[in-house]
Amino acid sequence: MPHKRILVTGGAGFIGSHLCEKLLNQGNEVICLDNLFTGRKENIRRLMGNPDFEFLRHDVIEPIYVECDQIYNLACPASPPHYQFDPVKTAKTGVMGAINVLDMARRCKARVLQASTSEVYGDPEIHPQPESYWGHVNPDGIRSCYDEGKRMAETLFFDYHRQDGVDIKIVRIFNTYGPRMRPDDGRVVSNFIVQALRGEDITVYGDGQQTRSFCYVDDLVEGLIRMMDSRDGFTGPVNLGNPGEFTMLKLAKLVLELTGSRSRLGYKPLPQDDPAQRRPIIDLAKRELGWEPTIPLRDGLLHTIRYFESVLNQRGYTELKTVH
Ligand code: NAD
Ligand code: UDP
Repeated sequence: MPHKRILVTGGAGFIGSHLCEKLLNQGNEVICLDNLFTGRKENIRRLMGNPDFEFLRHDVIEPIYVECDQIYNLACPASPPHYQFDPVKTAKTGVMGAINVLDMARRCKARVLQASTSEVYGDPEIHPQPESYWGHVNPDGIRSCYDEGKRMAETLFFDYHRQDGVDIKIVRIFNTYGPRMRPDDGRVVSNFIVQALRGEDITVYGDGQQTRSFCYVDDLVEGLIRMMDSRDGFTGPVNLGNPGEFTMLKLAKLVLELTGSRSRLGYKPLPQDDPAQRRPIIDLAKRELGWEPTIPLRDGLLHTIRYFESVLNQRGYTELKTVH
């Protein structure tokens, strides 16, 4: 694969930092753009010394121009407590961020990939979810800033493609977890692991019977790169996720078993509009990208537990409490 110059927005975040690392390892030049809202310099510290790596502190809601061959647009807080912290900013990040990367892609003729989400399916009435499903989304609720921002971004991607011939790729990412999630991220996998390691109660929302499908970050990053390098004219959207489906109660019990923790389960109210079920159909990814996840939940959780064990006592991490 020839050397490329690649821009990753949100590159200092959880998924973005793994993506930057893999793209550099493949011999590319990588520009990581991030406003460090939820991302951390710590995530990219070991890339900083690499002459093929650059960090740009910038907000995607402001215009950008970087000469490049490919753009991965990942900039957007992804955890409900973080995207609900400033919902107007989240909506702007989704919509104006998409417009700014698409304008840039049009000018420099770059291929551009949008990190969309299973949230476009909302609280789905069809299960499992194929890409053809249009979703069941509340436009006025507390998740809407994120869900509708991502839906509008998909619309913009297709309009720039139809109107101006911009070379687009859209992936719908299902729940992804792994090392470099923040202890205070607020999503379920990091919350449960950090709580188990600290001996705190495991915060199960509702009755814990809601389901999610969890994909380990290395599998997801492989899927992102395969999609970016997929054949001309294949735009997606394509689901990327692990079809293994678990209740939150099952996840809590697995985390307790793998950490050997004596934490107890503590039930909390179910947040508004929390989807009852989620599982991707990944036939399209298998067919077009030759991609499917390879890392079972148990193995991925063990890697993630090891990561949190190693960082929780470090300076800068001890004060980060789980958000719930
Ligand atoms: P994350 O919060 O760790 O990463 C998001 C990154 O974007 C952070 O580094 C943050 O500082 C940066 N960012 C946020 N707003 C920005 C702005 N206005 N300008 C510039 N940078 C900004 O979350 P993540 O899990 O790594 O998610 C990455 C992308 O993948 C997001 O777009 C998210 O919506 C999408 N996604 C993630 C999941 C998942 O389960 N992890 C699922 C579906 C979609
Ligand atoms: N959840 C939970 N305890 C937590 C955090 C989340 O039970 O401490 C539940 C949440 O209600 C949801 C599921 O876990 O049903 C996944 O939540 P997350 O925020 O990780 O992702 P999303 O809801 O965006 O899929």
